[in-house]
Amino acid sequence: MVKTQKNIAVIGATGSIGTQTLEIIGSRPELYKATVLAAGSRVDDLIGLAIRHRPSLAIIADETKYNRLREALEPLGIATATGDEALCEAVCRDDVDMVVTATVGYSGLAPTIAAIKADKDIALANKETLVVAGEYITGLLEKSMSRVFPVDSEHSAIYQCLQGEDKADVKRLIITASGGPFRTWTAERISEATASDALRHPNWSMGAKITIDSATMMNKAFEIIEAKWLFGLDADKITAVVHPQSIVHSMVEFKDGAIKAQLGLPDMKLPIAYALCEGHRLDGAEKPLSISDYENLTFERPDPHRFPCLTLAGEAFSRMGNSACVINAANEIAVAAFLNGRIGFNDIYRTIERTLDAVPYVATPDYDDFVTSNSEARMFASSLIGNKSTITVIP
Ligand code: NDP
Ligand code: MG
Repeated sequence: MVKTQKNIAVIGATGSIGTQTLEIIGSRPELYKATVLAAGSRVDDLIGLAIRHRPSLAIIADETKYNRLREALEPLGIATATGDEALCEAVCRDDVDMVVTATVGYSGLAPTIAAIKADKDIALANKETLVVAGEYITGLLEKSMSRVFPVDSEHSAIYQCLQGEDKADVKRLIITASGGPFRTWTAERISEATASDALRHPNWSMGAKITIDSATMMNKAFEIIEAKWLFGLDADKITAVVHPQSIVHSMVEFKDGAIKAQLGLPDMKLPIAYALCEGHRLDGAEKPLSISDYENLTFERPDPHRFPCLTLAGEAFSRMGNSACVINAANEIAVAAFLNGRIGFNDIYRTIERTLDAVPYVATPDYDDFVTSNSEARMFASSLIGNKSTITVIP
């Protein structure tokens, strides 16, 4: 258990993971202090959180909201800033011991790289960082004192199951998936799904982007990629299984045939606390699970025909290079267009597939290549979708 107060930067403070992280921090002031809070554009939420947690610095990415932030917080002695550079500088400050990367999408990459280069520990929620640039990030970590503690519930479960085990004994990681809101829907019905259907996740309450990723099962493809880089295993040792109750958070199979699992309610508080505590346990982090309430814990094979985004993890592994970066960028554009009612549900996959074929392949990307591939993929995906306000069918 951590004994002294740890200073935490929460990047994505106003979101689902960010606010839950701050609830834990606020409930354990003897252990944690939020010293940096950063958000995208919800400036009033950020101001409220800063008044409650009194960080040294609050940052808003949306420059148009900066004056409001400054006027509200500087009289309280809280420094303020805006812009990508300010965010990268903030995670490197002396009063930051750990960075919680709770921002969504590609925006997590640059501050995570800055934090690793500054030897800061990372509580990694932003899986897109490892999806976009897993090999590059792994290379940086080898040269850094920085440690990565997974926040994603499946990866936290695997991390917990691996405690005290020899990695050489691991046969397979089994990542569970709820199956999302369309698990039992026919392909025809899925093709008609609206954003409000897709936002109705059966078990988890999360931000909009990851909720749509769960409905397409892109989230599971991303988690397979995330697991490869976090745990250093070959892709053929990582599989997904649908577990509609979301009680078993993931499993590890060992060479003697044993399978270890971590169980709990579908609640992010436990994995967040486990990461903040550097892989130790915080009393009462989550409500206890009453196991006898669950008579049926079931497991099914995922269906890549109805959920073709699942196959994109395999595509990314067979192509490697910048492919997962391109997939991620196209997905971000397509999900935003789907949420705005501009494309249909199945167009998300079509947009990604077309973009992956169009953007130039880079076999061994460096940071500048990721920046270029990300922006090329966004431009191509946006051009496919066009400016129509009605649903566009991607051919
Ligand atoms: P939300 O959409 O709820 O929150 C995203 C946060 O990121 C908001 O605080 C948003 O600010 C902030 N943000 C957006 N752009 C920027 C930027 N450029 N700079 C700084 N902050 C920015 O997302 P979630 O909390 O659901 O997810 C966060 C990450 O955690 C994702 O990568 C997701 O995949 C992962 N994750 C989430 C889980 C969950 O239960 N929610 C579970 C496992 C993983 P604002 O709102 O002010 O614009
Ligand atoms: Mg997850």
